[in-house]
Amino acid sequence: MPNAILELNRIIYQQINPEATTTLIFIGGIHGNEPAGILGLHRVIETIRNRDLTLHGNFYALAGNLNAIQKNIRYESTDLNRLWTHENIQKITTQATFNSQEEKELAELHQCINDILNTHSGPFIFIDLHTTSADTIPFVTISDSLKNRDFVSNFQLPIILGIEEYLEGPLLTYINEFGHVALGFEAGQHEEMQAIENCETFIWQTLVAAKVISKKTIEQLDVRLETFQTLDSNSNFYQISHRYQLEKEENFIMKPGFVNFDTIQKSEVLATSNSEAVKASVGGKIFMPLYQKQGDDGFFIITKISMFWLKLSSSIRKLRLHHVLRILPGVRKDKLNSNALFVNPKIAAFLTTKIFHLFGYRKKVLKANQWYFIKRD
Ligand SMILES: [Zn+2]
Repeated sequence: MPNAILELNRIIYQQINPEATTTLIFIGGIHGNEPAGILGLHRVIETIRNRDLTLHGNFYALAGNLNAIQKNIRYESTDLNRLWTHENIQKITTQATFNSQEEKELAELHQCINDILNTHSGPFIFIDLHTTSADTIPFVTISDSLKNRDFVSNFQLPIILGIEEYLEGPLLTYINEFGHVALGFEAGQHEEMQAIENCETFIWQTLVAAKVISKKTIEQLDVRLETFQTLDSNSNFYQISHRYQLEKEENFIMKPGFVNFDTIQKSEVLATSNSEAVKASVGGKIFMPLYQKQGDDGFFIITKISMFWLKLSSSIRKLRLHHVLRILPGVRKDKLNSNALFVNPKIAAFLTTKIFHLFGYRKKVLKANQWYFIKRD
């Protein structure tokens, strides 16, 4: 990877327009071994500066894990993108000393995001730029809120819904809970030059989608605006059907040669765990196979979401039919959070997670006998 990042500030660049309300916040390098996001941002910022471009919106470019980026490691002691739970933030931002480098990074980044949210009225659009250890075409991950769906409809890319149910404490889930648009862009393989170029393209596309710059202006700039690849011309939406989570001390080796989105069959051998074969529990497409040492998701399997389901769930949510769920046996409202439900899976056994997804909720398992569902919209 060329262009080593030697010197870096938390705020890489900002352009504030006092008349604008739309505010775009790009974050690069929340994983320190993924510099493509920051390098892509640099390219866009350079063009904005050289061409003296005025944006019809506020634009912020932020750096994620400063320490890890400079050392070219994913993180020093904990993954900065797994710390964003309310309990953690409360603890970290009020304690006198930090227990790790990542706690310090979180406190700074949290402060920075808060300042932005307090300075502008919104709408706010957050874009978190990443790369993967396996080869991949670019794709987007979102929490399945109607606002997010609406914004991603501007892009021709595979869209993966609901990964946040499988991850504890990613930054975007925290942002989503304030009701802002938040999407993750995965630009390609960590070391590929193409990943930097894809980030640059996606940033320009986002600026156009958010209407802070016109497509016409960009076309005159001679910058990259090519369209990305999709997997299917009918529908770009996929859901996570399975996650393989690594245990502590597990010797996990992904079978070599998988490219993200390769089609796999049920029972196909995908990896070895402590020398034993790991087989696919369902058929579908392999998603984010792990080809690096750090990280605890071995792989995911994704399957396509039908247009029928997308339309049905959108109608149900617009009609605000989710109130119906609260009167069912085994379901009760969280008195502290009007957007959340406690569910006893034994009593409400007839309700599957799929139904809650349809109504726009995401699942969080509290204990074996209690599920917690939080509304995404
Ligand atoms: Zn990442």
